[in-house]
Amino acid sequence: MRPASVTSLKTYLTCPKKYYYAYIEWLPKEDDKPSIRLSVSNILHAALTAYHARATKDWNLLDLALVETWDPRLFSDLCTSANEYHRSRWILWQAWSAISSGETVRYGQNAELDFGGGKFRSRIDRIDQEPDGISFVEYHLGDRVSEIDQWSFQIYASISAKLMKQPVKSVRVIQLGAEEPELKLNPEDPFKLENDIKRLRRVIDSDQRHMPHPDQHCRFCAYSNICDAAESVLGSGRIKQSNELFRIFRALEILIEAGESIDTLKTLALKAVNQIHFEAKLIWIDGREVGPELLDAAKKKIEIEGGIVEEETKLTLHEGDSLIVPVSDVGFIVFPKAVSRTSAEIFGRSLRIAWERTNNYIAATTDGLTGLARREIFEDKINRLSGQDYTLIICDIDRFKLINDTYGHEGGDVCLKIFADIVRNERGVVSYRIGGEEFLLFIPSKDLDYCRRKAEEIRKNIAEREIIYDGKKIQMTTSFGIASGENFVSAREILKRADAALYRAKEKGRNCVEVF
Ligand code: GH3
Ligand code: MG
Ligand code: MG
Repeated sequence: MRPASVTSLKTYLTCPKKYYYAYIEWLPKEDDKPSIRLSVSNILHAALTAYHARATKDWNLLDLALVETWDPRLFSDLCTSANEYHRSRWILWQAWSAISSGETVRYGQNAELDFGGGKFRSRIDRIDQEPDGISFVEYHLGDRVSEIDQWSFQIYASISAKLMKQPVKSVRVIQLGAEEPELKLNPEDPFKLENDIKRLRRVIDSDQRHMPHPDQHCRFCAYSNICDAAESVLGSGRIKQSNELFRIFRALEILIEAGESIDTLKTLALKAVNQIHFEAKLIWIDGREVGPELLDAAKKKIEIEGGIVEEETKLTLHEGDSLIVPVSDVGFIVFPKAVSRTSAEIFGRSLRIAWERTNNYIAATTDGLTGLARREIFEDKINRLSGQDYTLIICDIDRFKLINDTYGHEGGDVCLKIFADIVRNERGVVSYRIGGEEFLLFIPSKDLDYCRRKAEEIRKNIAEREIIYDGKKIQMTTSFGIASGENFVSAREILKRADAALYRAKEKGRNCVEVF
């Protein structure tokens, strides 16, 4: 089950389509840390800590601590940052008053725990310690507390109880800026809440269609520009036009992520094409015969109208009103009539560029014979390894000169390719060809037992592999030297250690694994 948060569940209840856009479809980026981005409590915590470290205590200092801790980059935009800043300042003011009057207050941070059938992320604004339990406090902007909001406060309260291992005595909502600032709710049964969430998460996980709930909220939805349902509510041709622009932007944004492998590019290209129109299709030639008109279009890089009949061995043009856009000479995009020619052209050109860029990258970084990454790529990585957990395994084919002498250089090449094919498919291992018949395996772990077992497996695999070249059987064996990364030891030194271990393996008679 995918991790959930109160916000994600609330989003699903508001509109499953919005949930789809925000949590499933949108490409996760490495630096995306939604729990931090959405969390005010983390910043408050930091401000309070900074404040407590000072000798003099007054409100101005606490206020200053917030200014110093605030980082607008943690928010999706400046407007959200400003809103949250004011909310945070309010919360701090409450904290200051509580601390000054000697109350026991605990300001929550982000929490991640098992709740309602799986991992659950949450932020807690404030927990007050009462004699026989806790009082959960939520700071809410404005006085419009909807039913879904109330439900979410109850969940936060239940999570606080789980964290503090104490029952919830009360759920308080401080409505910032409201005439009636305090709202008290009766705590709900935590078991019932967990069960509700379990059920809801099962529904979400099995939902394939994400039917939208179009209503007046579409106006405020971040995805209204790409959502057909929002368009039906908000109407107008202008939206339709900007709609297509947004689709193109999103599609291009997805393409930018591609670059290092053809497989990734193909997957992302399909995703991007579906952004533009759900009926748009990507057809890769994949060695099939291509009809003359299609071939001509591919060569001249021009769009043509029609449709494509796809057979197992052949692609042919037939009548139709789709727009066919060639992707270099490897495939075609078929756009339905609803997509404008400009969009189709822009996207087609971008995909062609992405295709070339990926191929250039691969050509520049991989070894032509084996298809493994080249030594230079590892040289680049070696300088960035300090502080990481890793193990290096150097492999050297035994008596390779003899193989060359007996079966010819081509026979030797066949062996190199077979070696590469075997290590390439090892999961969790990155392999490089670092010399003629020398390879390096990188494993992002310091578990020596595991790495030794892995090397043994590969060694056995190679020794038992039946290699037939020119009607003759070639027996190939390999020796391995292993060394794990250590604190304060440079990666270059680790590489030397692995080499020393390899030297020992050769001394011991070859076809074996040695650890430094
Ligand atoms: P050892 O067990 O001690 O490693 O013996 P070895 O014969 O494997 O070691 P040596 O370093 O003496 O020989 C390596 C040979 O690999 C010499 C070189 O001609 C051959 N070689 C290097 N690159 C290639 C290549 O791309 N293709 C082929 N077929 N042979 C290559
Ligand atoms: Mg050798
Ligand atoms: Mg060698």
